[in-house]
Amino acid sequence: MANSGVSNWRRLLRAWDVATSAIPGFRTFLSSGWNFVLPPACVACGTELGPHSHAINSVCLLCLACRQEFTKIADKPSCLRCGAPVGPYVNSENGCQECSRDRFAFKNVYRLGLYDGVLRDAVLKGKYPGSEPLLMSMAQLIWEYHADSLQNENIGLIVPIPQHWWQRLRRQHHAPDVLAEAWGRCLQVPVGLPILSKRKWTRKQAHLSRADRKKNQLDVFRVHRPLRIAGKTILLVDDVLTTGATADSAARALKAAGAKKVVVVVMARVVGHH
Ligand SMILES: [Zn+2]
Ligand SMILES: [Zn+2]
Repeated sequence: MANSGVSNWRRLLRAWDVATSAIPGFRTFLSSGWNFVLPPACVACGTELGPHSHAINSVCLLCLACRQEFTKIADKPSCLRCGAPVGPYVNSENGCQECSRDRFAFKNVYRLGLYDGVLRDAVLKGKYPGSEPLLMSMAQLIWEYHADSLQNENIGLIVPIPQHWWQRLRRQHHAPDVLAEAWGRCLQVPVGLPILSKRKWTRKQAHLSRADRKKNQLDVFRVHRPLRIAGKTILLVDDVLTTGATADSAARALKAAGAKKVVVVVMARVVGHH
């Protein structure tokens, strides 16, 4: 019902997968014909992708310039707890400058870069309907950088941060759902869409102070079907992590309902939000 936009899109994607994977070489044939009619463009900046650009593949439609911008710090050291960048020899097992005052219920944060410049533009663009190709490309890029670590986490279920039913009615498109679906395909792990729901209407986090963000997110999430998460490591998906208050609240609810561990993946991390 309210998720019909997302699920129709997902059904279409699966049907396309099944139809085109049945005949070897069919996808290449189709895409080369299509590229001739309408040359593919970068889903972030719109630059036409050259015919021999190795940025062109069926999953990640980003030009090399955008890829380089998005991944500037993707493989640089980051805080193990919160994903903020740290110096090369800093031991961040107990947190960093950004998170040392926080007690998070999640363990690790995987992200591409900082919420700034073109990455910020991409995150904002991803909030609007029709941005699925961009979100899928971003998910693929994060996968390229964090596949080994994510596979080592032994993820049992992927759970996107949900939106309140009223928000869902107003805007069916929800970036975390699309990202979760993409990482589900990478990890070959199911996505638990009806696992977590948001039971309280919350004020927009962006307008609140750090302390108010925590209060705003207190006891917001409810877990359905706890048997599906019992004893599992959950990959919690959001588009951006600011103070960590939302992810913390969701992780608390999941752990209280029996999850063994919660790790977080986002496109970007906001730092310096005190
Ligand atoms: Zn681009
Ligand atoms: Zn930290």
